[in-house]
Amino acid sequence: MDAFIRGMPKAELHVHVEGTLEPELRVRLAERNGVELPYRTADELAASYAYQDLSSFLALYFSGMDVLRTEQDFFELTYAYLQRVHAQNVVYTEMHFDPQAHTSRGIAFDTVISGIRRAQEMAQDELGIRSQLILGILRDMSAESAMEALEQSLAYRDWIVGVGLDSDEKGNPPVKFREVFERARAEGYKLTMHCDHLQENSVEHIRQCLDVIGVDRIDHGYHVLDDEGLIDDVRRRHMCLTFCTTSNPSDPAPRRAAELKRALELGLNVTVNTDDPAYMRSYYLSEVLLNTQQAVGLSREQVAELARNAFRSAWIGEGRGRRTLMTCICHIKALFPICSTTLRVRNLAFQGLPMS
Ligand SMILES: [Zn+2]
Repeated sequence: MDAFIRGMPKAELHVHVEGTLEPELRVRLAERNGVELPYRTADELAASYAYQDLSSFLALYFSGMDVLRTEQDFFELTYAYLQRVHAQNVVYTEMHFDPQAHTSRGIAFDTVISGIRRAQEMAQDELGIRSQLILGILRDMSAESAMEALEQSLAYRDWIVGVGLDSDEKGNPPVKFREVFERARAEGYKLTMHCDHLQENSVEHIRQCLDVIGVDRIDHGYHVLDDEGLIDDVRRRHMCLTFCTTSNPSDPAPRRAAELKRALELGLNVTVNTDDPAYMRSYYLSEVLLNTQQAVGLSREQVAELARNAFRSAWIGEGRGRRTLMTCICHIKALFPICSTTLRVRNLAFQGLPMS
């Protein structure tokens, strides 16, 4: 199973590029940019990572970003993630980025996205890994700030495939951003929203995503399982749910693995993702998949179904790029007897294709 999961071509649909800031890079960027950190070494920094709930996690996540200042910083952050997951046979990834978290610190939108884009292009040229960007709206900021971020993004429309909603859900329901997402839809963006775990009014928020906002995907979305009507609706729409069965720094056991297994058994279009791996024991997609499989005893067919769901739900449009990505589904099937053809398949399939 270990070889099968590691060798399988994989796609990831829910990861925050700022959440891939490993402690080593954080220390290096802090030194380069003259930023004072509370700890001197990467090990000390990693040992300090602890959180109990979404709000304490977010405090850690946003404070980590302070070392990201220049275009080169965003380039190195993004390239390090793409290089790391390329080595795990991730062939395609859709990355959230949070521009408001940077523009509010005086870092220009252009600085952020130019560094990320340069890394995407270089990783595709040199490694063959394809990636696209999702503009993450911070839901604990105002709808006006969200609209401003959306309008800033339009100058880079061709570099961004979709708009998402993340950060603290408490008191910030999807409908708060109705006009922003209507505008995003009109501009041609795909839409997704986080509906996190154990948040108030979870079922109601998911219902708003489906019926008011008209999302194309729901990030997390575990509480779909609490409501028979939602289960039926999500299944009928074949709506992708990007589950993140990640682990806490203090506990290697994957969270929400039982919910994932139930969603698979119910025939929902569910995927496994890493969310913010640098803050979650540095488990990237192969480790998260393997831990989840072991925790709840997923069959090989169920693991393959998770990978196929991710490829099918990728926002890659139609045409040659999509057809090529879909060949990965065939190659997952081919992996059942043997795993060894994957690397060759990936390299042949992805090098030289346009990004979008
Ligand atoms: Zn997330």
